[in-house]
Amino acid sequence: MDYLLLLEWGKNNALTIVAVIFTLVLIYHYIIERDKAVKLSKKYRNSIFEAQSKIFLNASQYLIKGNKDLAIKEFLNAVDLNRETIETYFALGGLFRSNGEIEKAISIHRSLIARDSISESTRLLALKELAQDFDKGGFIDKAIETYKDVLKINRDQQDVIMALCRIFEDIGDWDQAYNYRIMLSKVGQENQSETISHILVEKAKTLFNKGEYKACWEELEDAFRFSPSVSAKILRLRLYLVFGKMEDANALLLELLKEHPMYATFIFVSLEQFNTKSADAELYFERLAKLKSYFLDLNDMDLMSSPSVVLSKIRLLKDLHRSDAAFELLDKWMKGNGQSEVLKVEFIKLLIETGKVEEALQQTNGLLNNLHSSLTRHYCSQCGYNSDEIFWRCPQCHNWETIQFRWKV
Ligand SMILES: [Zn+2]
Repeated sequence: MDYLLLLEWGKNNALTIVAVIFTLVLIYHYIIERDKAVKLSKKYRNSIFEAQSKIFLNASQYLIKGNKDLAIKEFLNAVDLNRETIETYFALGGLFRSNGEIEKAISIHRSLIARDSISESTRLLALKELAQDFDKGGFIDKAIETYKDVLKINRDQQDVIMALCRIFEDIGDWDQAYNYRIMLSKVGQENQSETISHILVEKAKTLFNKGEYKACWEELEDAFRFSPSVSAKILRLRLYLVFGKMEDANALLLELLKEHPMYATFIFVSLEQFNTKSADAELYFERLAKLKSYFLDLNDMDLMSSPSVVLSKIRLLKDLHRSDAAFELLDKWMKGNGQSEVLKVEFIKLLIETGKVEEALQQTNGLLNNLHSSLTRHYCSQCGYNSDEIFWRCPQCHNWETIQFRWKV
């Protein structure tokens, strides 16, 4: 019982325990070094030790009583006495930050930065820690400013540049995101072309949505110079539709499908995204209908072996109220392949729609026995983040183009 209580107390007082351990370590250091001390007179060192012990003892007491503010004050006093304690402060600051006590972490790191007696490299480290405090606390502007201050002192800080990239991508400031990715590509080993292409596509997309198609096209050309990413090609396809370049649109669609048959359903979802209130909307959707009918007429053997391509066709046919044609296509496909759950569901729906109830029941039974339930359409291959939305940059782990497609039933 007592043991359990102690354990519970330990959980709630992690900081106190750490403080006590720090104190013990300091005392240990003192004892070890006492004999080696040559520079300072014994009397002087003893008085330092006395003061220090008192401070740490006070701090520990404050922590035990739950008064963390006073505890920090005591800890900060101690740094005047012993430069070795700086490491203790970094540890404590980091501990506060990971505990979510951002303001305390900030005050520790600020007091370190303000100190005269520390080396430049320690100051830089403290500044970096401070930036991370702001970052974690959600003080975006201050985090940006402080990270930039770090770079002013030393530009060769890959993790700092990376943090700035993440922040600017988070807030959708694509100009800045672009600048820091370029900087990262100069400092780091990893090739950033793919990501830079994505960033430029995002920038181009905002222009597209504003109806600034010419500027959008130019931005997109830049994106292609870095890397012909899927998202870049899809946006180019949408621009072809706006400009009425139907032959180019057909060719690009075919190229996209051949490269990434998996993305077929997704390509058509993206193409539907157009501001319906815009003056260009009517023409755009007219041209999109033409592109769709070109796709429906495609009879490429390679393409038709992809379930995603077949599913896209089925969905388009159903939109056009051509259930019979959809059924015919799927029936033929199921006989040759027949492994995809989502296509089985579509097949059952079509059986019902075309009045083949008996077979629908049979198929349903078979399906239910083998069904793997899946809840979202997309997931991140890096961290497993789930979403129905399309994300080129994972909102959870911030990696680009880790999106994977799942058959949603
Ligand atoms: Zn992720």
